[in-house]
Amino acid sequence: MSVAMSVKDPIVGIDLGTTNSLVAFVRDGVPEVLRSREGRNLVPSVISFADGAPLVGYAAKSRKVRDAAHTVFSMKRLLGRGFEDLKDAAQGLPYKLLPGDGIVRIEIGGRAYSPIELSALILKELKLAAEKSLSMPVRRAVVTVPAYFNDSQRQATRAAGRLAGLDVLRIVNEPTAASLAYGLDRKRQGLIAVYDLGGGTFDISILKLHDGIFEVLATHGDTALGGDDLDLAIARIAAAELKERDGVDAFADLSLHAELLEAAEALKIALSERDSAELAVVSRGYRRAFARAELEELARPILERTRGPCLRALKDAGLRPEELSDVVLVGGPTRLRVVQEMAASIFGRAPNTSVHPDEVVSLGAAIQADILAGNNKDFLLLDVVPLSLGIETYGGLTSHLIARNTRIPTVAREVFTTFADRQTGVDIHVLQGERERVEDNRSLARFKLAGIPPQPAGIPRIEVTFLIDADGILQVSAKELKTGKEQTIEVRPSYGLTDAEVERMLAAGTRNAEADTEFKKLVEARNDAEPVLRATEKSLPHAARLLPPAEAEEVRRRFEALSEAMRGKDGGKVREACFALNRATAKLAELIMQEAVDQASGQR
Ligand code: AMP
Repeated sequence: MSVAMSVKDPIVGIDLGTTNSLVAFVRDGVPEVLRSREGRNLVPSVISFADGAPLVGYAAKSRKVRDAAHTVFSMKRLLGRGFEDLKDAAQGLPYKLLPGDGIVRIEIGGRAYSPIELSALILKELKLAAEKSLSMPVRRAVVTVPAYFNDSQRQATRAAGRLAGLDVLRIVNEPTAASLAYGLDRKRQGLIAVYDLGGGTFDISILKLHDGIFEVLATHGDTALGGDDLDLAIARIAAAELKERDGVDAFADLSLHAELLEAAEALKIALSERDSAELAVVSRGYRRAFARAELEELARPILERTRGPCLRALKDAGLRPEELSDVVLVGGPTRLRVVQEMAASIFGRAPNTSVHPDEVVSLGAAIQADILAGNNKDFLLLDVVPLSLGIETYGGLTSHLIARNTRIPTVAREVFTTFADRQTGVDIHVLQGERERVEDNRSLARFKLAGIPPQPAGIPRIEVTFLIDADGILQVSAKELKTGKEQTIEVRPSYGLTDAEVERMLAAGTRNAEADTEFKKLVEARNDAEPVLRATEKSLPHAARLLPPAEAEEVRRRFEALSEAMRGKDGGKVREACFALNRATAKLAELIMQEAVDQASGQR
């Protein structure tokens, strides 16, 4: 029954790439890339708005220079991101970006398109290609994304699918998909690293493959690093030489800008096979011989940026490079010798270049689709969350509910309480990032749980639940346990983390762990001390009456000392002063209590 269903209602696997996109399908147990409507395997992720219907693929790519004003590419760099968020990712893109309501828009021929709409056009093209190839309607797909895509970028990908008429059944991380295709023959076992350098993104995943189980141990990456950066570096050289020779600002002219990037890409690809090639900007009669060594020199500092994420992933997985059984290279730029050398230098071994770097991700997506269709029961995929998630607690601290690299799907619950007496509502502020302080993490969403029955501080019990589904998408709910009052939201940030932010947060998370711990100690000490101060304040007027003068004076002195410590930044001092005040007031508290008991019994 399930086999018949899957034949009638196939699930395809889609690699929605920055540069190229592919659709694949498992037929009789064998994954294969389906031909595009242009008769090729790849569909360049380029759209050209000529008169009439938009062109997608090679037809659009050929218009990149001829009709630069109406041709867009590398939309994936903008997907799920905001205008302010984008300064780095938009660098070198020769089209106009407009600030929108949260998300960025691209202006083409006087119309503004969101990256979601544009990605949907690519997905639509892949859907049509699959329908032609399979001779049946295609409505369901598994789509891959960079492992380091955040919640917002994943949601945007799913939305693009919906817009293209595809039900995106699962979002799979690209390196994980690649590992599925790599490990398909089931003979491959052990610990592998997938080094995935695409057109615009870099991902590193460490996986354990055993008996058909693909377990991601750790993942890291950079959502704005890829082959495009090499093109831009080459184009800058040509632009500088053109400026010098002709006095033109090549990047100010849309068409020339596009031509430079195209020439740079062609040169890069040529140098993956030859020792030297020519960089040619035909419209300006510009030609320049380029040696492979020259490109390698330009590329090294850019590729060096892949080292940090690789080392962090290894560390998170608790592994040394020599414990890996293989390093698998994925993505077009990994055909370059300099990229292979970089991977070799990071992992201390020659990488495996046996998988087809352009096709392996889509083949893996097709295998995951086949698993979902119920046709492949031998494989199990266990993936992880790329960044920690938590909520804000009193004093500006982040309480992490889910640590990064936790296996998904996952659920975490924690019970919190109120800080003020008779507090009837709490703000739930959802955060992403590794740091202790709220302001150092990324705010994902806020919502309010209202209608808590008024009670003394610390009495209500509010249970917060974080649920991450198999696509890595987060849902948060909060429930007051006494009344059962509940609020749920699917976290929908207006846009995601910038890569720089992710990097900064991760790096700073390690570097500042010590400072964060100090800050946390201070906040906790203050939180503990505050009720002691308040209680002492209330009992101070009784001290002179109930205690000998020296002891009353001691209480007052200790009270002032704690108030003073609370204004400082030393958590240890706050603790000490609080302890001393507690000790000094022990007798007073007892006497006040005794007096109250005596009064009560006197009244009886
Ligand atoms: P992907 O995202 O995996 O499709 O990779 C696209 C990137 O690979 C683009 O930056 C291409 O310019 C680059 N690319 C494709 N083929 C080659 C090659 N032979 N050598 C170097 N880079 C390549």
